[in-house]
Amino acid sequence: MSHQNRKVEIFDTTLRDGLQVEGVSATVDDKLRIAEQLDHLGVDFIEGGWPGANPKDIEFFRRAETELDLTTSTFVAFGSTRRPRGKVDEDVTLQNLLDANTAAVCIVAKSSDYHVTQALQTTLEEGTAMIADSVEFLRGNGRMVLVDMEHFFDGFKQNPEFSFRALEAAVVKGASHVVLCDTNGGSLPHEIEDIVRQVNAHVGKDVTIGIHCHDDTGCAVANSMAAVRGGARHVQGTLNGLGERTGNANLTSIIPNLQLKQNYVCLPEGRLEHLTVVSHRIAETLNRAVNPQAPYVGSSAFAHKAGLHVSAIARAKDAYEHIDPALVGNGTRFVVSEMAGRATIQMKADDLGLTLDGAVVNQVIDDLKRLEHEGYHFEAADASLELLMRRAAGWEQHFFKVESMRVITDEIPGAAFSTEATVKVWVGEERFVFTAEGNGPVNAIDTALRRAVQKAYPQLANIHLTDYKVRILDGGEATGAVTRVLLSATDGVTDWTTIGVSANIIEASWRALEESLVYGLLHSTDG
Ligand SMILES: [Zn+2]
Repeated sequence: MSHQNRKVEIFDTTLRDGLQVEGVSATVDDKLRIAEQLDHLGVDFIEGGWPGANPKDIEFFRRAETELDLTTSTFVAFGSTRRPRGKVDEDVTLQNLLDANTAAVCIVAKSSDYHVTQALQTTLEEGTAMIADSVEFLRGNGRMVLVDMEHFFDGFKQNPEFSFRALEAAVVKGASHVVLCDTNGGSLPHEIEDIVRQVNAHVGKDVTIGIHCHDDTGCAVANSMAAVRGGARHVQGTLNGLGERTGNANLTSIIPNLQLKQNYVCLPEGRLEHLTVVSHRIAETLNRAVNPQAPYVGSSAFAHKAGLHVSAIARAKDAYEHIDPALVGNGTRFVVSEMAGRATIQMKADDLGLTLDGAVVNQVIDDLKRLEHEGYHFEAADASLELLMRRAAGWEQHFFKVESMRVITDEIPGAAFSTEATVKVWVGEERFVFTAEGNGPVNAIDTALRRAVQKAYPQLANIHLTDYKVRILDGGEATGAVTRVLLSATDGVTDWTTIGVSANIIEASWRALEESLVYGLLHSTDG
């Protein structure tokens, strides 16, 4: 196969379809930052949303024109075909598309006869005319036109003849792409491959065939890959699979699947290794953490819970990993617990670049056993484990020294609870005393501690907490119940988790918080 045939275009719709996910909203600044990240990754197309749909999108397209400096990606405005029985030159949506001033536009078209007659309440002839007129109009105004064929697969299963006519209407008028959409997400890979193959035989010579899948059967990634097998050379999806209901096809899986397993070219040379960072940065911007178990980019994607075969992994890592994690910018992680033997600890130390002698390794094993007995769980708290190992080797954190911490919660009748924390710390020879209010004790001590040390360490502004989990452990032992706190933080690129255990929930939280900041500072200063 020629090089040309191995190119599969990547069309990202995180900023349009992706933002349909419940509980996510993005500001105009967020959207600009996400577009920059997608360009850094090197996708072919970035769909920005509907120009003119609401004040936020109007502002986004206006600012994108001057502030977005894309070096790799083509920016795309999204809209729809003209209204039934309307005129193209009087159509508001088409005019908004032109006003967005993008080189390419993507319009959604009805390609299922059921949707034309039921949803649009018009004839099939008018349905195809809407597509033909709109493509012709936009092409006439110098735009590259991609057509999203909505409900294509469901329509094709009912009435393939009409679906072909809808495709032809777009192709004849000069659409560059026809994108077959599994809008309800109900199709399976063998159906997708079969239908795409038929479409490819019919119009594949005249147009690029695209695929747009939703994950309602859990097959969106497989369906997109099946479409490529059937002849599609343009894949639409979102970073991290964001999207309404069960999500859109996940580009963070599709891109490496196509590029590393099937030798297709999706991104420019040298960009695939940005995948993990871009995935995490976008998740961070949208305040929606990456699933730890996400293929390729999740924090557990290349994590090994080292048991009996630990030494085998150390000898031949590639025997236990499906790809070299560096190819996607991720890394191998060894998960360590009280069950760990000497070899595991040694391997973890190598991984962290620490040199531990035999006595220190024994010390770490003893500490782990003792602490896990008290309720610590280091498997879930890699950052605390690293600090523990460093301390066993004689390291001490020199960033700050806490003199005291106090937290007070008041209930004032008729008003809300109020919480206030005071932290006294030393940074070198300087003493700082800071008080902060918070919406709870953890928030208050976090704010006070940061204020106290932020002057010396401005990089703390980039570090913030992403998750706080509390578990009450009752081992039925004489000591009674203890509280385990797991605290996750991020600097926008790396995520880490620390742990604190105590009979007192404030103390447990404080321990985890202090370690979280120390870990963040340690890794921000040593690069
Ligand atoms: Zn969609």
